[in-house]
Amino acid sequence: SYNMPGGQYQVMSARLHHSLYSLTDSSEAGPDDEDGDGPPPLSPLQKLTTDMCKDEKTIKELIIGRRVGFYKVRGEIGYGTFSRVKLAFHALTRDKVALKILDRTRMDPQAQRLLSREIGSMEALQHPNVVRLYEVVETPCRLYLVLEYAGGGDLHNRICSEGKLCDTACKITFAQILAAIKYMHGINIIHRDLKAENILFTCSGCVKVADFGFSTQVSNRSAALDTFCGSPPYAAPELFRDECYLGPQVDVWAMGVLLFFMVTGTMPFRAETMGKLRRCIMDCAYSVPPWVPGPCQRLIRGILKAAPAERCAVDQMLGCDWLLPVEFPWSPLAARPLGPLRGPPESERGSLEDEEDEEQEEEVRGSLEELGFTAEHLRNNRLQDSRSPLTGVYRILLHQAQKRRGCDCLPVVRGMVRDPKREGLRAYRGLRHTSKFCVLC
Ligand code: ATP
Repeated sequence: SYNMPGGQYQVMSARLHHSLYSLTDSSEAGPDDEDGDGPPPLSPLQKLTTDMCKDEKTIKELIIGRRVGFYKVRGEIGYGTFSRVKLAFHALTRDKVALKILDRTRMDPQAQRLLSREIGSMEALQHPNVVRLYEVVETPCRLYLVLEYAGGGDLHNRICSEGKLCDTACKITFAQILAAIKYMHGINIIHRDLKAENILFTCSGCVKVADFGFSTQVSNRSAALDTFCGSPPYAAPELFRDECYLGPQVDVWAMGVLLFFMVTGTMPFRAETMGKLRRCIMDCAYSVPPWVPGPCQRLIRGILKAAPAERCAVDQMLGCDWLLPVEFPWSPLAARPLGPLRGPPESERGSLEDEEDEEQEEEVRGSLEELGFTAEHLRNNRLQDSRSPLTGVYRILLHQAQKRRGCDCLPVVRGMVRDPKREGLRAYRGLRHTSKFCVLC
């Protein structure tokens, strides 16, 4: 009865058996148990996987899409051009996730290419201000991206309903966007679709840059690109000139538009027609209202320059006067690329970061074992394949552990900055360190 629709469940169950259950026999009740108190209780993992194979209700939920892999699906939270996004939670860890659902039958080769780039970029990114990809679940008709849930809405809706942000909120929000962009440019990933709709918030107000559907990974930061991507009001002038462009400078321009929008509640370039908008952007015709604080005005003008080479670089933005009072709370550890679960400590390690890493991994390994994942499971899976349900659990637990260590904490704006230059530099240095660390690993 569970061959439908389109053999969906069969495919998944075969995959799961292959990746997870090949070793569970050893931990199941053996002949010795017969004269004991019966079989030992099932682990949460054994219970779930048994239900997925045998329990009628669970199987029905899988068939009708109320469950996807290890996730229980709830209501709709958004939709995009090719996708619907639903709230879901992990049946074992109970964490909320966002399930981005894509209909593969409606995707042309171009859309499929973009999707695989989206997955590729997200797999490479692990930063407190970037939405995480936990897992990818594939069925013949659909593809599900299991994403970190950002329950605080997006920047566009926030400004449309509450108006422009106050200066402090702008600083805190913009600094986090900058941290995310510095990190992704540091590993040569260009977003290409930065806009207020793609800046999400968690319930506690932490910024999460989302939607990597137009992103691309370049071989180096001066590699020329030639595809128009993004949304016209955020598009840099060079994108309308029909020439090659450099990725980082296009993201920087979009950040200038975002900053203007946050600070004033209006867009810098507006027009009734596409032609006029294009003209407006190419002429760099915008004016910053005079009430915008001077340091912020200077930053906007430093970013929104027609000539890409004259635009502020991300590092200059981080060091600007307006952001001097911003301090980040996290350690550079927070922004490591996702790696495999490492083995036992190696003798040459020994820095503080390594110790913290080991402690964190120990914690995650302990939680995995409590759920019923055995040492065998972990030995056979390097936890790097997004299409494995074990990777999903691992990444969720790892993120939980990182959050307990403060990785999703917001930056603070200090009211009294005694020595502005020093405080600002400290924040800036913190960020530089974060990214340098990431690039090197
Ligand atoms: P677009 O057509 O704008 O490119 P898309 O198909 O790429 O959209 P997304 O922008 O990724 O889809 O998601 C669509 C909507 O779903 C978002 O506007 C947002 O409201 C919601 N959403 C997406 N990801 C998450 C998330 N991780 N947490 C919470 N809500 C999300």
